[in-house]
Amino acid sequence: MTKRGLVWFKNDLRLHDNEALCKSLLECDELIFCYCVDPLHFKKLDLGFKKADINRFKFLEQSVNHLQQHLEGLGGHLIICEESATSAIPDLIKKFELTDIYAEEEYASEELNVIADLKDQLPSMNFHFFWGKTLYHKNDIPFQIETIPLTSKAYRIPAAQESAPRKTFETPEKLKGFKDAISTRFPSYKKYGFTKKEYDEAAPFLEGGETLALERLQYYTFKSELLTGYRWSRNRSEGLDYSSKLSPYLALGCISPRTIFEVVKEYEQHIKKNQSTWWLIFELVWRDYFTFKGMRFGDQIFKTKGYKNKDVPFENDPENFKKWCTGTTGIPFVDAHMRQLNQTGYMSNRGRVNCASYFVHDLKIDWTWGAAYFESKLIDYDVSSNWMNWHMQAFEIYYTNPVHQSNKYNSQDYIRKWIPELSDKNNVEVLIPWEFDIPSYPKPIEIYQKWTRAINLIKKLEKE
Ligand SMILES: Cc1cc2nc3c(=O)[nH]c(=O)nc-3n(C[C@H](O)[C@H](O)[C@H](O)COP(=O)(O)OP(=O)(O)OC[C@H]3O[C@@H](n4cnc5c(N)ncnc54)[C@H](O)[C@@H]3O)c2cc1C
Repeated sequence: MTKRGLVWFKNDLRLHDNEALCKSLLECDELIFCYCVDPLHFKKLDLGFKKADINRFKFLEQSVNHLQQHLEGLGGHLIICEESATSAIPDLIKKFELTDIYAEEEYASEELNVIADLKDQLPSMNFHFFWGKTLYHKNDIPFQIETIPLTSKAYRIPAAQESAPRKTFETPEKLKGFKDAISTRFPSYKKYGFTKKEYDEAAPFLEGGETLALERLQYYTFKSELLTGYRWSRNRSEGLDYSSKLSPYLALGCISPRTIFEVVKEYEQHIKKNQSTWWLIFELVWRDYFTFKGMRFGDQIFKTKGYKNKDVPFENDPENFKKWCTGTTGIPFVDAHMRQLNQTGYMSNRGRVNCASYFVHDLKIDWTWGAAYFESKLIDYDVSSNWMNWHMQAFEIYYTNPVHQSNKYNSQDYIRKWIPELSDKNNVEVLIPWEFDIPSYPKPIEIYQKWTRAINLIKKLEKE
């Protein structure tokens, strides 16, 4: 009897290093491929913005369309459904008489609930899930999820000593696409409550898709050799070149962390092995750590009291929240980063640290509001990376002074670029505009005593 399976793409929008896809090809005679654009991802939250905003929608659309083209080229078709998987997949199962579903394994509650619902609806279905998100496979690390250490060091050292990334899976050369299936188009933005203006004006920082992800990796490594200087450039904020910019591709699975690992190892062999090559892998290990730690604590990572169940007296001023979201706090280093996030769906790690620290420790707003805002905007949104980094800013990390950091990282040009009101201001004015008469730019919410030393240092700078 012909065995017909469904390959259900989620955050693994790639053909390379895709275990679910490879296994389905080994085990089935014919395959249907699908992706579901879940309306719940774009619903409006009580905080007043969408769970995922327009740049995320557009980046997803680009990535799914690239996948569809890639599948078509190898004899597959991608059915793109405009409903949630829980309503679309049972229909596909019936229509195409499918017996098996192949997909990446999930780890966070919303996604796990979708799977539980499908299993309830389809009791006789054979489900096959494969772990693919992290650099180290979750079964290869020297910890059970319930015992993942509370500090990254206690995780990283044993993990690096006792496990190694598994080898990547080859990209299939031919797919067994079921001939009666046809590809369908990515649904319109209108279905998810976006306007034409929002859609037309959205300009994600990068274009989505597997091919572009692999090109970006080649560019950052062998073509430009920028990787060699990563250790020293990674804290900057402006442009494409100071860090890998692989996070949006990793978030949707347009590239796998093991592929990055293999290319970095080749780079070490043929070009240069140094602190930078070590550091890039180290960051991927951080990403793993947050994934596993997030799994350990489950939904506690989304709660105001965090997984430590700690009370923090937040003030939650709605006006200040609005100013932070719109990049109008009057603190240029924060505002420039927030405006870049709003326009492009991306912000540097330095920016994220400063905006989160200012949000929690200066504005004293519930950190989960900030995390929800980042979730809405970031094209590299990743459940555990976002919520665990915010959790860390709220509960574990010392304060980051945004005035001092704006000077330390020479951010004048960056600020001039993202805050037009300050584009013609000199090197001092642009960092501490409240000290001068600049009516077009907002007055700061508050200038804190603890910033005095940083402000005095800036005043001593050369003006040009
Ligand atoms: C408050 C806050 C929220 C964040 N939210 C996210 C998020 O939703 N998605 C996300 O991918 N990253 C998040 N980060 C981590 C980090 O800022 C981004 O991964 C990084 O800026 C992406 O740019 P890049 O790909 O050029 O990174 P690179 O510096 O080139 O690093 C390479 C890769 O390592 C991983 N990585 C680097 N730093 C971290 C980190 N601190 N935590 C976890 N993984 C890391 C990313 O996958 C990244 O692509 C957040 C950080 C903070 C402080």
